[in-house]
Amino acid sequence: MPTTPAPALVSPPASPSARAAAPLRLPRWLSAPSPGWSVEADAIVVGSGIAGLTCALRLRERVDTVLLVTKTVLDEGSTAWAQGGIAAALAPEDSTEEHLQDTLVAGAGLCDEAAVRTLVTEGPDRVRELVGLGAVFDRDLEGEIKLTREGGHHRDRIAHAGGDATGREISRALIAALHQVMDDPGIEVVEHALVVDLLTSDDGAVCGVTLHVIGEGQIDGVGAATARAVVLATGGFGQIYASTTNPPVSTGDGVAAALRAGARVTDLEFVQFHPTVLWLGEGSTGQQPLISEAVRGEGAFVVDRDGVRFLHGLHPLADLAPRDVVARAILNRMSETGVDHVYLDARHLGREFLEQRFPSIVARCRELGFDPATDLLPVAPAQHYASGGVETDLHGRTSLDGLYACGECSCTGVHGANRLASNSLLEGLVFAHRIADDITARADAGELPRRGPCARTGDAELLDSAHRIEVQRAMTRGSGPVRSAESTAEAIASLAALAALPRGDAEPGPHAWETTNLHHLGQALSLVAHLREESRGGHVRSDFPDRDDARWLTRQTLQRAADDLTTVSERPAPAPAGAVEA
Ligand SMILES: Cc1cc2nc3c(=O)[nH]c(=O)nc-3n(C[C@H](O)[C@H](O)[C@H](O)COP(=O)(O)OP(=O)(O)OC[C@H]3O[C@@H](n4cnc5c(N)ncnc54)[C@H](O)[C@@H]3O)c2cc1C
Repeated sequence: MPTTPAPALVSPPASPSARAAAPLRLPRWLSAPSPGWSVEADAIVVGSGIAGLTCALRLRERVDTVLLVTKTVLDEGSTAWAQGGIAAALAPEDSTEEHLQDTLVAGAGLCDEAAVRTLVTEGPDRVRELVGLGAVFDRDLEGEIKLTREGGHHRDRIAHAGGDATGREISRALIAALHQVMDDPGIEVVEHALVVDLLTSDDGAVCGVTLHVIGEGQIDGVGAATARAVVLATGGFGQIYASTTNPPVSTGDGVAAALRAGARVTDLEFVQFHPTVLWLGEGSTGQQPLISEAVRGEGAFVVDRDGVRFLHGLHPLADLAPRDVVARAILNRMSETGVDHVYLDARHLGREFLEQRFPSIVARCRELGFDPATDLLPVAPAQHYASGGVETDLHGRTSLDGLYACGECSCTGVHGANRLASNSLLEGLVFAHRIADDITARADAGELPRRGPCARTGDAELLDSAHRIEVQRAMTRGSGPVRSAESTAEAIASLAALAALPRGDAEPGPHAWETTNLHHLGQALSLVAHLREESRGGHVRSDFPDRDDARWLTRQTLQRAADDLTTVSERPAPAPAGAVEA
């Protein structure tokens, strides 16, 4: 039970399916100068990870003009950091049905089975097309793509490149393909272009973005870009926590902008904390080095400080159990033994194998003073992946006409409460294709007319970037890997105190916009984490340690209304038919 009474934040449930929740007030806009220039395209794609690049490349072949904007440079984002690989049922002995079952089990009852079926069925062809585009995957002596296994998978189905540099290779291949068409007048690519907010028309449809460009000439400072369709592919929000595997650009800008514009945002409480992130000492913050699950896939295992393999007996897959199971077991062991890390033992895999199979991980560990061939590696869970985001249907459409979301910033329902390892690159690939096809079909059918943005009304807000660390601390302490009614209430209160600070002292600019996005998402995430009184997937509550299917087989959605109030609603998520526990 909660150690303190739940704060007076939440109205009692009106009905299980539609609850009025906390009076969370979010403004419509980030404070920013008025646009000083404007551009027009058929489609705007925001972000240049696997989702954005795939979507822009496919759209370019189908619509007249595509504008691809990205916050820093093209290869900056989580995609280039992906190590383990991309999951797809490519082996003759594997099947899409088995991939589906593993995904449903990992998702802990909340996956949308139709979305998962789409992912696993279309995935293999999309991966083959990526190979056709030039991505070089590791191959065996017969020339077949080598497949490995990661947590939660019952088959070897993870294709990898450069050993442990899969994302880098995928990013390289997609950017090379983009460079081949960059001179085409049908596509414009703008780097150092940060999307601030979404523009909407009188009927509430999304018709463009405001963006800040660090450029030269006419396109510099804040401007407006309008289009028939906007695709958000802005990645995750790992920087909301003090330590994460995500790069600095992962500040949830797209999800926050969509929330402010009134889009439905779902499953935000399901944050994946990766079990084996290299532990660099107390107080180490920002992006932390990941030790891929593929290392365990090749035979490494977790031990506590006494050398005990405590994952054995906890789950039939032991060290390769789904991520939430392993992370939770590690957190429990850390708490029982009063230490802040456990160890990964890969020494028996041998120097030669480790260097050949995991060159980047071995090099990074050595830089930091650990040799996986001879040392136990200190590891602890850290934020890794956002399973929730902007809610979409199977075509990537959000609840706002004209707005699409793709990749980690979206919530297609594929991941449920917990993403199966290496399904995220695949999700970006599969749904980017679907979005490009949907935009094309709808534009051809006259369903995506050009609309003009309506006059800017509603509140604007900005939090000074000096407060970013306070947001991160509040989130780590209150809404981190293990939460409670008390801790989430504290996070909500700390973030509300920041919201109540006198306005007007923050200078508009990238750091303040990112900080305010983290702050808005932190408030939203803490609210749904507070409401969900059970433990499931990436959401772990110390005061409600068990999964509660009788009450919580539901998904929570946040949505901001015109009066600035953001409410939470629930809808049932039927248990996936035929999912069998591992
Ligand atoms: C260390 C690490 C290892 C991983 N390993 C794997 C793995 O092995 N397999 C797997 O499937 N997944 C893995 N993942 C997860 C996976 O990499 C990501 O989920 C996936 O790459 C997300 O792709 P994306 O295109 O949605 O976003 P990203 O690749 O993060 O790209 C987001 C893009 O949006 C841009 N952007 C953000 N905000 C704005 C803004 N306001 N304006 C303009 N542009 C903006 C960014 O600059 C970036 O270009 C890993 C993640 C990490 C961090």
